[in-house]
Amino acid sequence: MYDENNIFAKILRKEIPCDKVYEDEFSLFFNDINPQAKIHVLGIPKFPCTTFSNFLKKADNENITSFFKSVHNVIIKLKIEESGYRLITNSGVDGGQEVPHFHIHILAGEKIGSLR
Ligand code: AMP
Repeated sequence: MYDENNIFAKILRKEIPCDKVYEDEFSLFFNDINPQAKIHVLGIPKFPCTTFSNFLKKADNENITSFFKSVHNVIIKLKIEESGYRLITNSGVDGGQEVPHFHIHILAGEKIGSLR
């Protein structure tokens, strides 16, 4: 069940602001409010979906392709394609997901530490 009051839903409805990096028809990218690296951008699809799995189940192919191409467009825009980056999506309780609207973290700008 999608929570219409989650913080990213509020950002999409423009009820609260975000520090926008990129936007198109299907997706919105903005800087994380509590960055874990010099570059920490979040990417979200514009329609209600809770997790990566839920996004893939609900979205049509055009939307899925567009979202992941937009992730790459942001990587190019941030000029981190060569230096490197880490993509993360936390999903559900065991994945440590805090905001229940599917999102991808783009971490870069410095060497990102090991996962454990
Ligand atoms: P996750 O644990 O994968 O659900 O990550 C949620 C992320 O959202 C965290 O990195 C938070 O710092 C970030 N976050 C929460 N509220 C905001 C906000 N209003 N603007 C930007 N990022 C946010």
